[in-house]
Amino acid sequence: MAQREEIVPGKVVPLDGFGRPIPAPNPGMMTGPGTNTYIIGTGRLALIDPGPESALHLSAMLEAAGKQLKWILCTHTHPDHSPGARALKAETGAQVLGFGAVPDDGRQDAAFAPDRALREGEIVDCGAFRLRAVHTPGHASNHLCYLLEQEKLLFTGDHIMQGSTVVISPPDGDMAVYLESLERLLALDLVALAPGHGHVIEKPHDEVRRLIAHRLKREKKVIDAFEHGNPATLDELLPFVYDDVPRQVHAVARRSLYAHIIKLQRDGRVTGEGDGWRLR
Ligand SMILES: [Zn+2]
Repeated sequence: MAQREEIVPGKVVPLDGFGRPIPAPNPGMMTGPGTNTYIIGTGRLALIDPGPESALHLSAMLEAAGKQLKWILCTHTHPDHSPGARALKAETGAQVLGFGAVPDDGRQDAAFAPDRALREGEIVDCGAFRLRAVHTPGHASNHLCYLLEQEKLLFTGDHIMQGSTVVISPPDGDMAVYLESLERLLALDLVALAPGHGHVIEKPHDEVRRLIAHRLKREKKVIDAFEHGNPATLDELLPFVYDDVPRQVHAVARRSLYAHIIKLQRDGRVTGEGDGWRLR
């Protein structure tokens, strides 16, 4: 599953296995080189995450999959993952699949309406291959990973990214649930992870354990940050908790900090609300 080619928007990147990604032309701080759109199969094709609304990306997807495309699967409904489904379905007649409920938090593709709503464990039978939906809430409550069973390849959307840390943004994002969803992946027999952003990740269980440890280490830094003030606001805690990341990402990191605080509150370690938090 070695795959270290340069990621260029619109250019199909071959993988050793069945899936091959086309990065969408939306590079940025939150999206890395762009959202990976994966095309799976050789006859009748499935596509995971059509990406944002983009005429350029639509033509790249049509060129790569065209009339052979039968299934459009979305990992979740953030605007860099699912909106491209509508134009792609209109052009190809392919069935759109994803978790049904779209959270109302102002950060969603609210118009997303799958032809088939998927739940945990459901199988999408594509003839030559099968994709199993794995419900992995945390980054988004309606997040599904898709397991390409015969390759033991897990398409992870934004549950796991390569090259950047996933933002957990309350209220739809939930740190405790995110950690549980990471733990669940350890029970799956996996060869590699195909993330929604970045390159394919080998040694998937090692990576999942690393991510869990990373989050728990950050949680420890939240607890330690109260040494500088108790009670403290999120803005007071932020520079201590994220002293290892560049300042320009602090606004985004603040959302994950809030997710840590909510988890600690539920764990009974922290009390407070709004602008004042106190370590018990
Ligand atoms: Zn997302």
